[in-house]
Amino acid sequence: MEKDFYHHVCHACRSVPEPVAGVYQKFKSCSGCKLISYCSVSHQRADWPSHKSVCRHIKRMTESYQFPALFDLTHSPQSLYQAQNETILLLEQSLNRPLRLDERSSIFFPDICGLCLRPNGKAYIFCSRCQVQFYCSDEHKNIHAAIHEKDCQSLKLGFQVFKDRNLDTMPGRADIKQSVNSGMKFPASLDDYLSTCLDVDSLSLADRIGLTDVLSYVMTLVYAVRKSNVLTVDKSSLCVHIIGANVVESNMLVILEHFFLWLDTVRVLDLVFVGPDCPPPDSDLIEYAMLKFRNRLSVKFHERVLYHDMMKALPQTARKPDLIVAFNCGFHEYEGLETDTWLPTIEYILTNLSTILVCTAYTPLEAENDSKPFVKRNPQVRTIKFCERNPFRSLMPYRNPERTESSVFFFNQMLSIFSIEQDIPQ
Ligand SMILES: [Zn+2]
Ligand SMILES: [Zn+2]
Ligand SMILES: [Zn+2]
Ligand SMILES: [Zn+2]
Repeated sequence: MEKDFYHHVCHACRSVPEPVAGVYQKFKSCSGCKLISYCSVSHQRADWPSHKSVCRHIKRMTESYQFPALFDLTHSPQSLYQAQNETILLLEQSLNRPLRLDERSSIFFPDICGLCLRPNGKAYIFCSRCQVQFYCSDEHKNIHAAIHEKDCQSLKLGFQVFKDRNLDTMPGRADIKQSVNSGMKFPASLDDYLSTCLDVDSLSLADRIGLTDVLSYVMTLVYAVRKSNVLTVDKSSLCVHIIGANVVESNMLVILEHFFLWLDTVRVLDLVFVGPDCPPPDSDLIEYAMLKFRNRLSVKFHERVLYHDMMKALPQTARKPDLIVAFNCGFHEYEGLETDTWLPTIEYILTNLSTILVCTAYTPLEAENDSKPFVKRNPQVRTIKFCERNPFRSLMPYRNPERTESSVFFFNQMLSIFSIEQDIPQ
């Protein structure tokens, strides 16, 4: 499991500063990047091998004024988010690798006031319930209280998972209860699945919430297959293309028992992961999955390639997907920009394939924006589900760096399913 980042917590041991006379005093921050902090010099030393590459680049960029100002005193939520994205892009270019979750979070969630977005002072003024939202003054805390209220509980849960989660366990592992059999009712939600079908009694709350993050991908796929009626009686092999895939999606491979449990007529699942951020095939992961699911699974990775380019390069006889799944893809994110690579992919799918397209999104607004290219495409596109709350969304709240809609989002929170049909038979 990837570790996350909170600026007030020791980045090595996840401990929180002790209050002195009712006020939290900050840990010393790293003198290179000034973004992350440690409870002690020994912990800073211990963490240095993993932190040094990004720290050195930030330091060098700051000194040469190439670093977008994260602590500009006049930021609006939009301009801050833009500066943060530019920073991440620059860092990824100079490091020549994607940033880790904790590195991205250190850019997205620096030590700034939740209301005015200016740097906080030496001591912490914070929401005492979630202990995650910080302010420059009591006044700003009070003004922000009504807005903060609706996400406070989720922020608190997210922080608890961060502190208590065992990062060494296999992501998403939980045994299916022995009593689950073919007569069992399909669960109504991921919460329901956890409490009725899985053996999670020995897991801490943090591990339980954490495991839904991976489980959500498999169960959303299962749910979409069931809702789209793509499994006809004579169909014993299902071909699923996961587009815009990254490491999170590939973790599905280790827990496909949930897929085969609820879709037991599928003899073979043909999974293809593709996208510019798709990781190269992890041989350990694949070997583990192939051994576990033997002849019921076929897996291919097409890394660093756009979906339409991959499809055009395939021979005509190559198998067409029964389902295309875009997990949290953010189709609209680069809308109108030259860097919008989704547009040609969407066009390709709409004009060449007869398939089911499943899209999930982090937030309601994103789901709405993502679905725009599909809504006016009659009669090619039939809507099966439109921007609905996904009952199999992850239960893990993540802080939302885009501060305008809400402070938290969930993997696969929203779900749309479209059936795409071409006039000409394929
Ligand atoms: Zn520490
Ligand atoms: Zn540093
Ligand atoms: Zn403030
Ligand atoms: Zn709070």
